[in-house]
Amino acid sequence: MAERAADGGGRGTAGGGEDTAEVLVIGAGLSGVAAAIALRRAGITDVAVLEKSAEIGGTWRDNTYPGCGCDVPALLYEYSFAPHAWDRCFADRRDILDYLRATAATHGVDKAVQHGVEVLEARWDAGSHRWRLRTTAGARTTRAVIVATGLWHRLRHPRIPGLDAFPGPVFHSARWDHEADLTGRRIAVVGTGASAVQFLPELQPAAGHIDVFQSTPHWVLPRPGYALPPALHRHAVLRRALRGQQYWTQEAVGVLLRHPRLLRPLEAAARLHLHRSVPDPALRRMLTPGYRIGGRRLIASDTYYPALTRPNVRLHPTRVTAVEGRDVIGADGTRARADAVILATGYQVGDLPLAHRLYGTDGIALARTWARDRRAYLGTSVSGYPNLFLLTGPNLLSGITSVPMAVEAQLRYVTSALTRLRTGGYTALDIRPDVQEAHCAAVHAALQSTVYNTAGCSSYYFGLPGVNTFCWPWSTGRLVKRLRAFAPDAYTWSTAPEAADRAVTGPKPAAEAEAEAEAEHCSKSPGRTYPGPM
Ligand SMILES: Cc1cc2nc3c(=O)[nH]c(=O)nc-3n(C[C@H](O)[C@H](O)[C@H](O)COP(=O)(O)OP(=O)(O)OC[C@H]3O[C@@H](n4cnc5c(N)ncnc54)[C@H](O)[C@@H]3O)c2cc1C
Repeated sequence: MAERAADGGGRGTAGGGEDTAEVLVIGAGLSGVAAAIALRRAGITDVAVLEKSAEIGGTWRDNTYPGCGCDVPALLYEYSFAPHAWDRCFADRRDILDYLRATAATHGVDKAVQHGVEVLEARWDAGSHRWRLRTTAGARTTRAVIVATGLWHRLRHPRIPGLDAFPGPVFHSARWDHEADLTGRRIAVVGTGASAVQFLPELQPAAGHIDVFQSTPHWVLPRPGYALPPALHRHAVLRRALRGQQYWTQEAVGVLLRHPRLLRPLEAAARLHLHRSVPDPALRRMLTPGYRIGGRRLIASDTYYPALTRPNVRLHPTRVTAVEGRDVIGADGTRARADAVILATGYQVGDLPLAHRLYGTDGIALARTWARDRRAYLGTSVSGYPNLFLLTGPNLLSGITSVPMAVEAQLRYVTSALTRLRTGGYTALDIRPDVQEAHCAAVHAALQSTVYNTAGCSSYYFGLPGVNTFCWPWSTGRLVKRLRAFAPDAYTWSTAPEAADRAVTGPKPAAEAEAEAEAEHCSKSPGRTYPGPM
């Protein structure tokens, strides 16, 4: 695997004139940055991160809507190796973006990111055991690919007849139009998911009037928005205690979601929150979900319900079916005159656009392999797609998982796999189909009794008709434990004919030795002393 001296920037040139790197990471969001750092810490320094945008940050770069922030407590939404002095319990997008940038720079991986490079296609070359990529900046080859293109990246645009001809600003909440002057205007908001819950309270005070179109109400829990005093971060014991309490609270909620008969207290807490925030019984009825809590990702807010009670806000419990001139029309016949339309219609979650152009050992696109089910081993490896690792792949997360926690666990697994590949003299590893099948069968069997599958509502958990392609059916602790135990026997290992006679051992390049020294240093950092599974 170490065919040439590592340069840390993945800009080598193979015989064919293509740029090469030992590992290519696609995407420089939270996952891609973590991947580059994890590889470096594992002594794999010939890494390039290909990012189509001009900046790192992914979700937190793209979503600039007012009030955008994280629903997971900040102490659980950070890399374990880079604890940060967050000033509030829940971080907003600006703080997270700054944190990601600073962490990338501190670990020197910002220089490994190649911006403006969109990966268009990737093909496994069975002769050389390398992936051949086609990108907007030319061809690339690599031994291994880490796909970190994100689940909440592709926007969901509703097809609403007449919307294209609307004579005012129309934009998706994830591409907020900061040029549009909404002060004193009539605004139609289409959708009431997590983003609308965050931006509506910010929009309401300056807006003239807001019509909110809700097709399905969400369960909304209270959100404790307390400040984190600087002293907390100076006292590791206190910080650890709070983080531990938050982690175990999340895990306890997870237990309820997996055993729906225990969910009544959680539903009662959400109902009480609604009752306290919304005095009008008619409005409360419209906001009361008709499915079990947890059927969709949990939402927490102390400001959403009060915003809906303001005189300049009107909730319409109906989906939008058409737009005629300036009128936004609901399925129940509601007509709302608007100067601007904001689409809070979310994402095509879990849809991996690259899957249509990612060709494995049989030359079959991953999207075709996944036509009936998105099968992957531990959400990371897919049989027939060697040396390919998906971050936040299928059936890895759930309604409460912190993405950085899951990704870090995945990366420990991925770096174990790659380390064995390079030290064992192999050039390819492929998850055994029987192992993948057994794993997926267990996942789907365990999901049957969870609220994710039984809530009685539609949700993005179901990426394919009738198939929950999103959720991990057990605890976060179990996920971390499973990913910690990399099992070489679960894979077939092989060596490309043309690489078989090449030496894979020998003295380490200087850059690798340096990275390993750093890895050892990092492993002693305070972040490693956290409680919980990290
Ligand atoms: C509004 C919002 C709120 C959220 N709140 C939470 C929360 O509270 N808790 C939580 O755990 N998660 C939350 N999430 C999920 C969030 O997306 C993840 O936590 C995390 O940021 C995902 O990081 P990522 O790097 O995997 O993906 P992304 O952040 O989506 O980054 C993917 C990157 O890949 C790049 N890319 C994509 N395709 C290509 C290509 N073909 N070639 C090159 N580059 C490409 C993109 O430009 C992007 O920079 C939220 C998401 C949204 C949208």
